[in-house]
Amino acid sequence: MAHDFHELKTLLDDVCEGYRLTFDEATGLLKTKDKLSFLIAAAADSLREKRCGDAVTWVKNQNINCSNICVNNCGFCGFSCKSGDLRAYELTLNEIGKKAGLAASRGVTEICTVSGLHPEYDMNSYLSVYRTIREHAPDVHIHASNPMEVAYAARRTGCSSREVLEAFRDAGVGTLCGTAAEILVDNVRDIICPGKISTDEWINIIKESHDCGLRSTATIMYGHCESARDQVKHLSIIREIQDETNGFTEFVPLSFIHPGTPIYKKGIARPGATGREDMLMIAVSRLFLDNFANIQVSWVKLGLKMVQMGLMSGANDLGGTLYEESISSSAGAKTGEYLDPADMRYISEDLGRPLVERRTDYSMV
Ligand code: SF4
Repeated sequence: MAHDFHELKTLLDDVCEGYRLTFDEATGLLKTKDKLSFLIAAAADSLREKRCGDAVTWVKNQNINCSNICVNNCGFCGFSCKSGDLRAYELTLNEIGKKAGLAASRGVTEICTVSGLHPEYDMNSYLSVYRTIREHAPDVHIHASNPMEVAYAARRTGCSSREVLEAFRDAGVGTLCGTAAEILVDNVRDIICPGKISTDEWINIIKESHDCGLRSTATIMYGHCESARDQVKHLSIIREIQDETNGFTEFVPLSFIHPGTPIYKKGIARPGATGREDMLMIAVSRLFLDNFANIQVSWVKLGLKMVQMGLMSGANDLGGTLYEESISSSAGAKTGEYLDPADMRYISEDLGRPLVERRTDYSMV
């Protein structure tokens, strides 16, 4: 979309002074094709500086993905498989406990766990996992589950999603993952993940989670077969929820990794977002989500060089060390399983910004 330089500059200046972007304005920004994209990124960077300062934050965390066996067949997923598949795995509680103990000995402050929707899991299966982690890593924050897993556990157990959330919280879960959001537009979800919960179900479970005292992240997965308007519909839902609950800790744009996914192989999805789109998604997230302090860039999805560009386009957080990563790598990501804080320091100090270790709740270590 072609913008007039002066009109765009005025709009961006207004946003930096507190003006709330409208749906159409945000859509126009995401469609920018020319060098004015850099003006948008620069405004987002100024707003980042104003809202959360120069620190580039990160968390020392470890992933534990308990199983890749899943009853769903999401078209963007290269991770899941069925029982009996050569790739299928399922960690025992003993193995999960060992991994949690190793994570604690490494000094991680957060353990993240999500899994495939295992055909035999119910609420008690998830509770056993969280209790095992809690037992072996008593001081580590557990960032676990997501609205899809909560809905699945509720359905398999015959109870409400609120009961599941309260049980998870009481078993030691500290925050919920805001994944399974993908794009919160049902006609896109029908194409990319027809077996997943609907937009309304995702919204209801996230609000219930915040109401139960479980804060969460918020995510978007973009660059497959959604439009710019779909992306802004999603951002609008996230902004409205945050207005109501203030329960999101950060927003995490997740760029679609295409090579190993069914929707790409079938020609339904394009080969991921371009660099311009990645930059603008981060920048517009910063500009549109005026009720978020933290915008995270995903090194797993973008790689270190593009992540640094994200830090210059409105992002302030690098996410975590992870140690284990199987979801994006199964879809074809080449970024590896672990990001060394020394590499984080290299790119942040190159920008003249300090690297600061944080906890899940963004308090500093
Ligand atoms: S995205 Fe999650 S729910 Fe969907 S197929 Fe993959 S593991 Fe299963």
